[in-house]
Amino acid sequence: MSKPQPPTPTNFIHDIVESDNASGKHGGRVATRFPPEPNGYLHIGHAKSICLNFGTAAKYGGTCNLRFDDTNPVTEDVEYVESIQADIHWLGFDWQDRLYFASDYFDRLHDFAVKLIQLGKAYVCHLSPDEIREYRGTLQKPGKESPYRNRSVAENLDLFRQMREGKLDENACVLRAKIDMNSPNVVMRDPVIYRIKKASHHRTGNKWCIYPMYDFAHCLSDSIERITHSICTLEFENNRPLYDWILDELKVESHPQQIEFARLNLSRTVMSKRKLMQLVNDKLVSGWDDPRMPTLAGLRRRGMTPAAIRTFCERIGVAKKRDTLVDVAVLEDCVREDLNRFALRIMAVLRPLRVVLTNYPEGQVDEFETENNPEDPAAGLRKLPFSKVLYIEEDDFREDPPADFFRLAPGREVRLKQAYFIKCNEVVKDASGKIVELRCTYDPETKGGDAKDGRKVKATLHWVSAAHAVETDVRLYDHLFTKENPGAEEEGVSFKDALNPESLTTLRLCRLESSVRAAKPGTHYQFLRHGYFFVDPVDSTPGKPVFNRVVTLRDTYAKAERARR
Ligand code: ATP
Ligand code: MG
Repeated sequence: MSKPQPPTPTNFIHDIVESDNASGKHGGRVATRFPPEPNGYLHIGHAKSICLNFGTAAKYGGTCNLRFDDTNPVTEDVEYVESIQADIHWLGFDWQDRLYFASDYFDRLHDFAVKLIQLGKAYVCHLSPDEIREYRGTLQKPGKESPYRNRSVAENLDLFRQMREGKLDENACVLRAKIDMNSPNVVMRDPVIYRIKKASHHRTGNKWCIYPMYDFAHCLSDSIERITHSICTLEFENNRPLYDWILDELKVESHPQQIEFARLNLSRTVMSKRKLMQLVNDKLVSGWDDPRMPTLAGLRRRGMTPAAIRTFCERIGVAKKRDTLVDVAVLEDCVREDLNRFALRIMAVLRPLRVVLTNYPEGQVDEFETENNPEDPAAGLRKLPFSKVLYIEEDDFREDPPADFFRLAPGREVRLKQAYFIKCNEVVKDASGKIVELRCTYDPETKGGDAKDGRKVKATLHWVSAAHAVETDVRLYDHLFTKENPGAEEEGVSFKDALNPESLTTLRLCRLESSVRAAKPGTHYQFLRHGYFFVDPVDSTPGKPVFNRVVTLRDTYAKAERARR
């Protein structure tokens, strides 16, 4: 019998699409787009928008375009154009042959601006940026009309031509829509739609020295691509009347509907590209792909999977009215669920303590067969070598154990997983009093991990054979910020003040079982009792994998670890 399928998740945007399909509003067509500005790397907030746009199109048999919103040549770069495409593909979505750039529409956008001038609906304004701001007024105070507002169409056309031909200086003037300086919506008080920028563009080179503003370019690009549902985040709610005004005045054939949804914010991280860029530029992280970053490049390098991120985006849902702060633990749970299915289980000793089995024959090696993944029998078996000198976890021994400590202690017996019972007889210390070695005996009658006489032990420890161990670095990652919501603006406080000084702990000379010697970069493991780990694709070298901790086994473990510090 097949398992019952979970219902296809739905949300208020799907409700809108369904009612539009029912009424025939767009002839039953569904066309969405994901419109990143190539001025930084994508983060998990973008992933939510990608899942929503591509997911909605897929659910209703429609299409989703990738359109770069590249209207500001000063901050944009091909590095970002390339990383964004790689990240979307990695996340599991494809725009097929529908890769577009707003800059491809510059000619048409320019013609639309000319048309608006001819309609008497746009004018060239010489107020300075400060004056424009002052004239705009506020929510409480109505705006004031620019003295340039009532120029003739002919004069406006001539000035706009001079702007385009590079005859006027940057900041000399701008083109503004002529709407309503008394509108209660400040966005509608004659917004700027074109400005002079004498900057070279990564696609159009020096062809243009005027560039359209986002509000002007965005709605018209949507219309050119015959988008039906233009999904964007809530901060654009007040811009919707402008979106509609431009399309109505220009009487375009296709009038997409803008729909806003709440941005995703994740606890203990920041989500704005501007802030992430500061972390990179100030070298507070190693780059956009630092495994602590909420960028898709960072999450990927950390070892999070596209499937887990897609599940996360689905699970958190789509809110209509208020931006949400989602606990990062929700993401971590999605990652655990996914990795649990396929990560190979291995033994790894992160803080090694040497154990010598005094009664174990010198040079003898036992081999124990063990499962690669109990969740997945197809993952097969492997052999674990066992010998006279072993490593166990420093934490698994206490010289003076408290009452609730059941692991190894002087005179006490424990099980080494799947191997033997061992008993600690002697503690060896260095000159400073630090424990450097335990001298133990093993019981040959417990081979495989069970005593023939039925006696029990209270703890099972993982272990690694010293002679066979791979020595390597393991990086434990924790949240980048100590504050729940470091992105929330606070007077006089920089978000960087809340950086977690313990967000990265590099453990050197960890001892891992021999099977990882050939571990390929990009492979996932579960280190028994520790968590999920990933072979770092950048810093690993042949025979020496470097591991990143993706997540601990349970959130409670991570909390305990923080408490210990
Ligand atoms: P940032 O504030 O990080 O700079 P942005 O909105 O300027 O982001 P864009 O490149 O313009 O970045 O974003 C592309 C799309 O992704 C937009 O439609 C935007 O609404 C959406 N998006 C950006 N951040 C989030 C978020 N945190 N949650 C959901 N969607 C987001
Ligand atoms: Mg934006």
